[in-house]
Amino acid sequence: MTICTDKKNDWISQRIRQDEIDKYKTGGKDFIDEDEINKTLESGKQCDAEYIRGLLQKSLRIENLTLEETAALIAVNDPQLLSEMKETALKVKKKVYDNRIVTFAPLYLGNYCVNNCLYCGFKEQNADAQRKVLDSQEIIKEVEVLAGKIGHKRLIVVYGEHPKNDIDYIIESIRTIYDVKVRTRKGYGNIRRVNVNAPPFSIEDLKRMNGVGIGTYQVFQETYHKETYNRVHPKDTIKGNYDWRLYSMHRAFEAGIDDVGIGVLFGLYDWRFDLLALVKHSLELEARFGIGPHTVSFPRLEPALNANMEKYEKYRVSDEDFKKIILVLRLAIPHTGMIISARETAKIRRESIDLGVTQMDASTKIGVGSYQKEDIAQDKEKQQFILGDTRSLDELICEFVEKGYITSFCTAGYRCGRTGKCIMDLLRKGEEGKFCKLNAIITFREWLDDFATEETRIKVEPIIDREIEEVRVKYPQVFDMFKDYYERTKAGERDLYI
Ligand code: SAM
Ligand code: SF4
Repeated sequence: MTICTDKKNDWISQRIRQDEIDKYKTGGKDFIDEDEINKTLESGKQCDAEYIRGLLQKSLRIENLTLEETAALIAVNDPQLLSEMKETALKVKKKVYDNRIVTFAPLYLGNYCVNNCLYCGFKEQNADAQRKVLDSQEIIKEVEVLAGKIGHKRLIVVYGEHPKNDIDYIIESIRTIYDVKVRTRKGYGNIRRVNVNAPPFSIEDLKRMNGVGIGTYQVFQETYHKETYNRVHPKDTIKGNYDWRLYSMHRAFEAGIDDVGIGVLFGLYDWRFDLLALVKHSLELEARFGIGPHTVSFPRLEPALNANMEKYEKYRVSDEDFKKIILVLRLAIPHTGMIISARETAKIRRESIDLGVTQMDASTKIGVGSYQKEDIAQDKEKQQFILGDTRSLDELICEFVEKGYITSFCTAGYRCGRTGKCIMDLLRKGEEGKFCKLNAIITFREWLDDFATEETRIKVEPIIDREIEEVRVKYPQVFDMFKDYYERTKAGERDLYI
């Protein structure tokens, strides 16, 4: 299918609804005030150790930090204080998320794109990119591998911005994914939560997307620094409109999507500025809609085909600074889910868990149509960027267990209304943990019986026993119901949740 240029230009010209930007501004201004951010970063450098320790206590109470307080943490360089920040971040994470890690896989459905983000392998001007949009049969094949062989229950589906993968395609592809059911050793595998990483949409389109039952809707601002944003996103493209992107989550909330994900592509501009602006975005959503983002992402810029990486050397984020970004986010917005992707190496991902990360992808492939291929080599021409960690889900689960973490495949939240404000309130009160713990064990049992290698299963069994015992002691009032669900799952029933 080819699309003539006139039709494409027409499509492009109708994407942005100026009224769905202007209505959210205050006095014609957006909420990113660069002077305010720069001044706050400066003032953060003046804070003493006692003040910082006070902030750590505030995080431990699972309260958001203000911009000024976040800036103070960003400025910390003293090794002793940094190590106290690390200790606190881990305590905060344990308090909110206990010892659970959520796993998922990205599924790239189409890499056609009308935009020209300079750093991205999918940009329209990259003539060397091999373009593809998966049809329904190809989507089914991808999901059969993800849900039937690897054992994923959650996906993040990823799309370029193009008439070929417009809202109609997005909706159809999500429906197709939810419909796939694959026989497994003891039961069946299927995808139960589809999160979406897609371009910004109008409220009307977002309402339609919400109608198919999505999990989290993610749009990363990439950089909040306007001059940089305009330089890397050419003005004559849709993505060249900073404000259209900045207010995508405001429109999502208005459309009824209350699990949203925001993020920065670190390495485009000074990380301190973008980190503080990301926290500002989170606070703005919370102030306006009563809910902050469900997740934050903090990808670092990776080499991509024809991206001319040397241009970005100036703001490259070192591993040390990257770890500090994770730490500060965990402390500043303590209840928010934090995602680290397989862009990062195994070593960094391993370390990030104790700093505050709660979600990770595994068995990742990012070429369009790559999961159905046996070949494990990365496919440069079809990928958006190059991956740092290609380990399997089974390998990751083994590693988590060695670190004392269990993997949760629970997708109950959005299916029984524990989303948005409801889930955030439960997380703040530490009560979501109860549902999550029970569902994590039940779904982990499913995965072990259906997909684990024998070696992994043997390693995990004692951990499951320990977790069940913990439920018996901590939640005696629901233990019998939980045990019933657990035993039924062991016998082959699937998708039971509390
Ligand atoms: N096309 C949509 C958009 O841009 O919002 C969604 C999909 S895009 C493929 C998802 C994210 O990939 C972008 O928001 C950007 O942060 C990230 N990305 C693009 N190029 C990258 C690179 N070279 N290294 C790391 N991440 C990159
Ligand atoms: Fe297109 Fe997204 Fe890549 Fe930009 S980042 S070129 S919008 S796929």
